[in-house]
Amino acid sequence: MDNNISVTNRRVQRTLVVKSVYNITPNMRRVTLHGSELASFPQGAQGAYIKLLFNSTTGDKPVMRTYTVVKQRYQENEIDVDFVLHTGSDSAAHGVACFWASGAKPGDEILISGPGPAKFINTEAESFILGADMTALPALLENLQRLPATAQGQVFIEIQSEADKQSLTKPEKIAINWVINADSGSSATPLFHAISQAALPAGKLSAWIACEFTTMQKIRHYLKSDCNIDKTHLYISSYWKKGVTEEQHKIIRQADAKQINAQ
Ligand SMILES: Cc1cc2nc3c(=O)[nH]c(=O)nc-3n(C[C@H](O)[C@H](O)[C@H](O)COP(=O)(O)OP(=O)(O)OC[C@H]3O[C@@H](n4cnc5c(N)ncnc54)[C@H](O)[C@@H]3O)c2cc1C
Repeated sequence: MDNNISVTNRRVQRTLVVKSVYNITPNMRRVTLHGSELASFPQGAQGAYIKLLFNSTTGDKPVMRTYTVVKQRYQENEIDVDFVLHTGSDSAAHGVACFWASGAKPGDEILISGPGPAKFINTEAESFILGADMTALPALLENLQRLPATAQGQVFIEIQSEADKQSLTKPEKIAINWVINADSGSSATPLFHAISQAALPAGKLSAWIACEFTTMQKIRHYLKSDCNIDKTHLYISSYWKKGVTEEQHKIIRQADAKQINAQ
């Protein structure tokens, strides 16, 4: 299910200013963006995605990176965006958006486009499985808010370290399972193992999963072949792919979707 954000919003560009920056956990940096141009930003955009536009050093087209609106204060013309700091020892893994967020300071300007519609879990079910790595944690937080208060089920969140746990609001019968993986996107896929080894919640299931590409493929195979989830009750998406930039991930993702739709 989408929220009611129109597709025509996707191309609208706005220049915003950094208001504040702080690390909410060691590997997650919150950047608050503000500006009068947000007065025309759709209300209720939490969980929706935006594109950050950076100058390209090689071509005319800007470099685009996708992020989630984790919080919106509509009256104050403010949005918060949470950036995973994937700046480990491998300098090749230091992308343009992560680099920008690492050095962002109040007063910096950033061009954004969007928002595009959020993808929400189908809540017409008896029990729920949700899974995310840190890139999809902002979107997962909004999905948790949309579950019925009586919802039961399991949530799996992959984080880089114990200290990356966040406090979150959830229905009482939803259990949170934190999965530690210092090497996010590694072939060991701890998020997949945690989900596939857990006891399935009883009753008609609905699932919402977003994470790294290879991990997503494994979880998708498991959910489709072993869990008997209706197509209408399964949202599963890759948010990035280890070892490639967002541009390359987009191409791989499109090819994967074509293959899956042909099955
Ligand atoms: C709908 C949607 C919403 C998203 N929302 C968020 C969000 O709110 N917060 C967020 O942090 N990300 C989010 N992402 C993921 C984000 O767009 C990607 O991680 C993106 O590649 C980061 O851009 P970059 O310029 O830092 O790295 P890129 O230039 O794209 O990649 C450079 C290198 O960094 C690696 N890399 C990229 N991301 C990670 C990572 N998380 N961990 C380890 N290595 C990585 C790549 O594999 C590559 O080797 C979202 C993606 C989608 C599709």
